[in-house]
Formats: sequence, structure tokens, C-alpha cells
Amino acid sequence: MHTDLVAALDIGGTKIAGALVDREGRILARAHRPTPAREDGDTVMAAVGAVIADLAASPLWERAGAVGIGSAGPVDASAGTVSPVNVPGWRDYPLVAKVRDAAGGLPVELIGDGVAITAAEHWQGAARGHDNALCMVVSTGVGGGLVLGGRLHPGPTGNAGHIGHISVDLDGDPCPCGARGCVERIASGPNIARRALENGWRPAPDGDTSAAAVAAAARAGDPVAVASFERAARALAAGIAATATLVEIDIAVIGGGVGKAGEVLFAPLRKALTEYATLSFVQRLTVVPARTGTDAGLVGAAAAALMGRTDAAVAGV
Ligand SMILES: [Zn+2]
Repeated sequence: MHTDLVAALDIGGTKIAGALVDREGRILARAHRPTPAREDGDTVMAAVGAVIADLAASPLWERAGAVGIGSAGPVDASAGTVSPVNVPGWRDYPLVAKVRDAAGGLPVELIGDGVAITAAEHWQGAARGHDNALCMVVSTGVGGGLVLGGRLHPGPTGNAGHIGHISVDLDGDPCPCGARGCVERIASGPNIARRALENGWRPAPDGDTSAAAVAAAARAGDPVAVASFERAARALAAGIAATATLVEIDIAVIGGGVGKAGEVLFAPLRKALTEYATLSFVQRLTVVPARTGTDAGLVGAAAAALMGRTDAAVAGV
């Protein structure tokens, strides 16, 4: 039997997506369910099981040789468990064992969603061809992952590169993680909007107070909106520069809703990088928007499944 495909699962707080993916990263079959995020753990797992059952109903399923999971975090890949912040019914939940059972005993690879998007960007997106890269998702939270020496670097538990909780302001605001002045506390979408509102920005008559609305105001020249994005850009730049100095990345890729803000974010970010990334070996660091779209989580989970197999080199991941 040819097992030239992998099954991929992208598990988030609002949606569970699944796909059968080939070695070129093409999606050949899809399934999805809403995440019953407020229900108990087994009810959430039943939704995952329904997605797997939908995929297994495809005639292509018999070609699947492994399952890759990209999950909202924290995850613990070494233990095979997940504890997503937005799914309270799952705490140290044995997701890998449950998915293995639901998938007929196929091998299962688990990574965090930030690492999954990094895998997708390295395979098909803006980090393609870069052996040392940081990829970030800047949206409701700030996550990320690393490619080092040409390979995905998930770390022992699957969370390496979680740049959102690097502190860039030692005495800054308390962060829900317990530390202070984290990148996420300054640069996430809700924090960009919060800071703009606190400093006197007022939304348009439609009442939209999202970071996208702040970005639109910044593009129109609203100085408070501009300043809120500049502050976020400085936090991101400091975190990126620290990462580059530690592990010598040459590109940082930014995705997520805030990453779509365009020059309102990227212009001050490039400027701030010149202030923080100062040593000779990080001065050529570039920062660019992500290229993969809404399927990035699935494609990255597929990449993890392909990498977890002995013939991963065939996939070129
Ligand atoms: Zn934090």
C-alpha cells in the first residue's frame, strides 16, 4: 500500500480543520467542525473524531501514513498532551493517544500552532529557502516558531520560538502569563487597540475598535493610532533582534491579522530593527509579511507529519 499522503489537523479555539495532504503540500480532501470550546474535554475530542471520520470516509484515506497536529497551545509534544488556553476542558489532555486511536493507529506528530505556521512558511511561504528564520503570528496573541540549520526547530515540547512571551519591558505591564512587559502584552491586536483607546483614539461611527480599525486610522494619519502601531513595532523589533542575536536568523516573517496591517506596521518595524539589531551579524536581517494563507496551520501540520517519518527527506521539508 502506498502511504504517500498525510492527514493534518489544525486545532484552534473556534475551529477544528482537517485535511489529507500530499508531499507537495497540496490539500486533496478537507473536513472541519466548530470547536465546542466551552464543553468538557471528551466533547471537544468528539468533534476532532468527527473530522477524522470525515477524512477517513475519503477513498484517499488508505494512502495516509501519518497524522500531523498543529494545536493551540501550550502543547507538550514530549508527553503528547495539550492544554490550549481557549479550550478549558483540555488540560494535559492526551490528544496524541486519542488521535492515534481515532486514526486507526497511525503515527501522530504534535506541534504548537506557531510552529505549524513556521513549518508552512518554510515549506511554501516567505521563509522558503532560508535556513535560519523566525516566523511569527501576530493576532489575538503573539506566537512563533524557528527554523534553524535548515530544519524546523520545535524544541522538546513543541513550543520553541514562542516570542510573544519574551519580555521587552522589564518593568512593564503584567502579562497574563505571569511575567511583565512581554511582546504580546504590547504588540498583540487587542493591546494595540487598547493602547490607542487609552490614549484618546476614537473609533469610526461603526464602533469598530479592532486593531484593523486602528490600522485604518493610522493609514489616514491619526497620530494616536500611528503611535500605537509604532509602539507595537518597537516591541516586535526588540524581540526579533534578541532572537537574531541569539541564534542568527536572517529573516523574520510576520503573519496573523496584525501582520496584514502593511506599512503602518512594517515601516516603523524596519526602522526600530536598525536600533535594536545592531551587531554586524544581524544587520542584514530582513522582516517581511507571511505568504501562506488560511491553510497555513494545516500545511504546517502536514509538514510535521512528513518530517516525523524516516522518508521525510523525500518531501524536502
Ligand atoms: Zn507573557
